[in-house]
Amino acid sequence: MYTAQDEQRLYQQAKTLLSADSSNLEETIQQLREVINYADWKYYVQSEPVLADFEYDTLFKKLTHLEGQYPEHVSADSPTQRVAKGLSERFPTVSHLVPMLSLDNTYNADDLLDWDRKCKEFAGTENIEYCVEPKYDGASISLIYENGTLVRGATRGDGVMGEEITTNIRQIRSIPLSAAFAKSNVNQIEIRGEVVIHKDVFAEYNAQRAAEGLAPLANPRNAASGTLRILDPKEVSKRKLSAILYHISYYTSDGTPDMLHTHYDSLNWLYQLGFPTPVKEMKRFNNINDVINYCAEFEQHRDDLAYEVDGLVIKVNSFDMQDKMGMTSHHPRWAVAYKFKARQATSKLLRVEFQVGRTGSVTPVAKIEPVPIGGVTVSSISLFNEDVVREKDLHIGDTVLVERAGDVIPYIVKPLSELRNGTEEDIVFPTHCPICNEALEKPEEEAVWRCINISCPAQVVERIIHFASKDAMDIRNMGDANVRKFYELGLLKNIPGIYTINWEEVAKLGGFGSKSITNLQTAIDNSKQQPLNRVIYGLGIRHVGETMAKTLANAVDHIRDLYDYTEEMLLALEDVGPKVAATVMHFFHTPENRHMIDLLEQAGVNLTNQKKAAPASGELAGKTFLFTGTLSRFKRSDAEALVEEKGGSILGGVSSKLNYLVVGEDAGSKLEKAKKLGTVAILTEEEFMSLAGLNG
Ligand SMILES: [Zn+2]
Repeated sequence: MYTAQDEQRLYQQAKTLLSADSSNLEETIQQLREVINYADWKYYVQSEPVLADFEYDTLFKKLTHLEGQYPEHVSADSPTQRVAKGLSERFPTVSHLVPMLSLDNTYNADDLLDWDRKCKEFAGTENIEYCVEPKYDGASISLIYENGTLVRGATRGDGVMGEEITTNIRQIRSIPLSAAFAKSNVNQIEIRGEVVIHKDVFAEYNAQRAAEGLAPLANPRNAASGTLRILDPKEVSKRKLSAILYHISYYTSDGTPDMLHTHYDSLNWLYQLGFPTPVKEMKRFNNINDVINYCAEFEQHRDDLAYEVDGLVIKVNSFDMQDKMGMTSHHPRWAVAYKFKARQATSKLLRVEFQVGRTGSVTPVAKIEPVPIGGVTVSSISLFNEDVVREKDLHIGDTVLVERAGDVIPYIVKPLSELRNGTEEDIVFPTHCPICNEALEKPEEEAVWRCINISCPAQVVERIIHFASKDAMDIRNMGDANVRKFYELGLLKNIPGIYTINWEEVAKLGGFGSKSITNLQTAIDNSKQQPLNRVIYGLGIRHVGETMAKTLANAVDHIRDLYDYTEEMLLALEDVGPKVAATVMHFFHTPENRHMIDLLEQAGVNLTNQKKAAPASGELAGKTFLFTGTLSRFKRSDAEALVEEKGGSILGGVSSKLNYLVVGEDAGSKLEKAKKLGTVAILTEEEFMSLAGLNG
């Protein structure tokens, strides 16, 4: 069909057309057609989109616009003159009773205002009721019921013809195999909808693929559409697909049943008959401005839904009005999609940089041509480790598909290997630290290469930053930038150096007023009184997080007691395994680290367990607490600090040792577990406050 060279050329052509037109009109039109045909083939036949929706729509609109301006250039084979062709040959092809047109897309309030004007024009009235529902990101299907029984399920295909996949459709539990249409005298009915995969199911499925050494699927939509076309129905059943039905496209009956006058009523009726329709999410509005506000508001919460949603669909509610308005050759006039900001884009992998972290781990970071995704410009993406790079088969110079979904950090879904031209280069992992040139090591069971030079400048800086950070010594105003600056200027060489900074030298630097220096000095001074667990956490011992640091601090009177801890003694502590025991022993037996602890002591930093020194007293003495859900009156860390201040302690999970579970909003599994145990007292925030002696 398309050779690899064709694919490269057409992809480049698409990118060029997105930014500029050729000076020759005829050539531009020809190029647009070529590119759109190619994109359609990738999307519908290969199920491997090469363009982001927004890019595709921009090109399609450009072509439609040019053909509108110069009708003499319109030809019968232009992609604007038909709905996209292309079907796989694995399933029998069937005709839809009514063509499945795609919806026109809108991207902003102006587009919607424009659409509203056209609706009023075609409907011949100013009073239009709109119905708004989520636009599910899945695979479109059509279902036909005759005399109450599901007789056919089909994919959308090219809109006119689809693939008959009835057997696979029957595997989807949410689709009724029969329904009481006869009660309303409806004989034959065609219902449209979307097959989707629950986000949790998708995540689980990808985790399983990863475990089997397979590449993860790009998104739930691809997973849904791919699954529908699997030849083995049993396998389809295992994938736990869901469906959401949102449109009655055709029916035969004696007269018009009452509930088939509006879209809103029709979906409620289907819901009553047992169909999954978006009745809960569906909203009605009497004017477009309310629709626009709702769209903006909904976009903020798109990640709260169980399914991927890539926009909203706005429909004219009245069926009579819909009939009156009719359709263009591509789109119904009475419905439009409002698309949320795109979360996928393609870009070019320019180079890979290797960053050295606090523990010496060397992380490959992809530098890509900056590309806007979902409202931010992405230019730098972590590739985690060598295995990820090898699994994805990434090369320098690759065109890559980048996704940034929800609050997930951006990641490279895959390279578009069909666009390679042979100039791509392997990603070469360094054998030596890019900062200090020490030979890198990789323990057999780990995926990460490490620089083991304890004085590696990259690690030293990261360690100082960690020591000063909020969860460790909480030295406010210190910040990453200051640490880096002081280090580069030789004013700060290691962790204890924080307490001996030459402030006269700092005052000579630009950007430090006497006020900001005083603030910084105060913050550093205050940090000397931090409890021992924060010091231990701040030292950045591998595998020692905040909770583990507390365990270690609680076990001793002074940090030096840990010098004498044997492996058995460490393993006897809660949650300490062989890994932690080994790194803790190694840390406290390293002479440089002992020297650092001496310097901290000389600087006046607290290294004793004050809590143990003074036996627990206070309102919460001896009691154990755990917080769950979103607290409205406290920050979680403040609430925990309060418990400890009052003599109580915080546990890491629900167990028989737990006395109190304090429950905020949206509490989940911890609450369930505590209820099951039956021995845990469950408190609201208010009850907790009065228990702690705070009368709020
Ligand atoms: Zn190094």
